[in-house]
Amino acid sequence: MAQPGTSPTFSLSPNVLFVCPPLLVFYALCVLALCPAALPVITPRRRSASARARKRMVMAKKPRVVIVGAGVAGLAAAHRLCAAGGDRFDVTVVEAGARAGGRVLTSEFAGHRVEMGATWVQGVDGSPVYALARDAGALGEAPAASLPYERMDGFPDRVLTVAEGGEVVDADRVARPVEALYRGMMDAARAGEAAAGGGGGVEEYLRRGLRAYQAARPAGGGSKEELEEVEEALLAMHINRERTDTSADDLGDLDLAAEGEYRDFPGEHVTIPGGYSRVVDRLVAALPPGAVRFGLRLRRLEWGETPVRLHFADDGARPATIAADHVILTVSLGVLKASLVGGNAGKDAAAGAIAFDPRLPQFKRDAVARLGFGAVNKLFMEVEPADTPGPEGGGGQPPEFPFLHMAFLRGHVSKIPWWMRGTESICPVHAGSRVALAWFAGREAAHLESLADDEVIRGVDATLDAFLPGPPRWRVRRVKRSGWATDPLFLGSYSYVAVGSSGEDLDRMAEPLPRGSGPPRVLFAGEATHRTHYSTTHAAYLSGVREAERLLQHYR
Ligand SMILES: Cc1cc2nc3c(=O)[nH]c(=O)nc-3n(C[C@H](O)[C@H](O)[C@H](O)COP(=O)(O)OP(=O)(O)OC[C@H]3O[C@@H](n4cnc5c(N)ncnc54)[C@H](O)[C@@H]3O)c2cc1C
Repeated sequence: MAQPGTSPTFSLSPNVLFVCPPLLVFYALCVLALCPAALPVITPRRRSASARARKRMVMAKKPRVVIVGAGVAGLAAAHRLCAAGGDRFDVTVVEAGARAGGRVLTSEFAGHRVEMGATWVQGVDGSPVYALARDAGALGEAPAASLPYERMDGFPDRVLTVAEGGEVVDADRVARPVEALYRGMMDAARAGEAAAGGGGGVEEYLRRGLRAYQAARPAGGGSKEELEEVEEALLAMHINRERTDTSADDLGDLDLAAEGEYRDFPGEHVTIPGGYSRVVDRLVAALPPGAVRFGLRLRRLEWGETPVRLHFADDGARPATIAADHVILTVSLGVLKASLVGGNAGKDAAAGAIAFDPRLPQFKRDAVARLGFGAVNKLFMEVEPADTPGPEGGGGQPPEFPFLHMAFLRGHVSKIPWWMRGTESICPVHAGSRVALAWFAGREAAHLESLADDEVIRGVDATLDAFLPGPPRWRVRRVKRSGWATDPLFLGSYSYVAVGSSGEDLDRMAEPLPRGSGPPRVLFAGEATHRTHYSTTHAAYLSGVREAERLLQHYR
């Protein structure tokens, strides 16, 4: 319980009796006005008592800010508020999980450093995330201290594109022209130059492009139908890539016009040798000790008046409550979508849902409902040749697993399970590595989470048999995968602008409540609140700083 006159650090109890700072000030002023005798009548002792009283008033005025979520957005907001002048705010970050970082999670697998979530810094020039990684010393480590990591050798230049059945696709005549078509069209869309009309989102836009390409290109040697089938399979392969890039299950649901607003930072896209989590560690280390509190899952937010009350549940124990002047909510769009279901009482609420009391206003509910938030998962596999002796066995150079791009053919009857058909590639994480990676989006990503390891291994083995019949035949020894879709703290991976939504919905996501004038009681940060950089770690970072600045502005 926060007592008047004690340092207003948080104390959790079943019933926190919160003393609102403005009320305290008002009370103190009344006492002074009504009791002139209490004003300095000047003994050293009294002077020190009144100095203490003044100090108490100053401390009591310090606004309490509770930030929900210790992902990049929440940590960036806390960092900005704490950096703004040490003691101006009483800042606490409450996190439901047991770790900081949210959708940033570096792990290890088969002797490699692997990223289960955020992987790339998407453009280094001007990126705050790149600057944090650099300041953390995570960009260049002594080779001895460093584990091999994803794409430590840059982009692969030896891609092997194979059609289902095992035939290598002619790179110059077929694979590269279709790739150039896809890249050119997506670049045009992102430059806002995509030909409008026709509907059908990004998928139909790309398919129209392929039809025009096929009509214009000279007929090749063999059968027109066979060539077109392979070209269509190649476009479907790139569509699978685009699905993982955007998280849209169906590119028909990805708004073409909004692609023209999306921006990366200029410069290279890089991975972080020391691990993405080092960015998070850097942010946490800069906060006062104890500023981040774990295991506090927000279940209900009473935001109709100040103080705002946050109700938590602690593993089924008695609920705890914290009161605050301002709340910065950074939970994922997936969690907010789940929160639209079930009403304030939380009845029928989906796992992870937060009950808002009063319920969120309609403009916010509409934006949450309209924007897209999809599932993307990464599957890491340790692969080995089943039937070729390695160098130990005297077989010469060990075979290298290729950078395999897969063109799945319609109607082909191999034993590949449907969920494997949604991935673009199975590639070693760097040349020569025996750890391979495949990305999955949408329903395939969600289904992957429901499978046992041996089912996953069987599915990948069947796929490898169909694309790399050997020798050598490749086999998967073990797997490690992410599970963002079913984790109640995320309920998906990142946001996109769905057909029927627009960049304005991203702006609406960022609007604080209550709408209009008056102190902002609930502020919104997180990747899904940034109009041009949504879906990235830098969007999360910038949104956290933006909401901290909003509060700083309010108290200026
Ligand atoms: C597979 C994958 C690959 C990605 N690849 C890239 C990439 O290459 N480059 C890139 O820039 N970005 C990438 N991203 C996206 C990036 O990780 C996110 O955009 C960013 O980390 C989101 O940060 P955030 O702070 O907005 O949200 P989060 O990281 O989701 O943080 C929100 C926090 O709130 C907590 N929380 C949830 N509910 C509650 C509750 N009720 N009470 C208290 N706490 C709660 C969560 O536990 C979480 O810690 C990827 C994401 C995934 C999943």
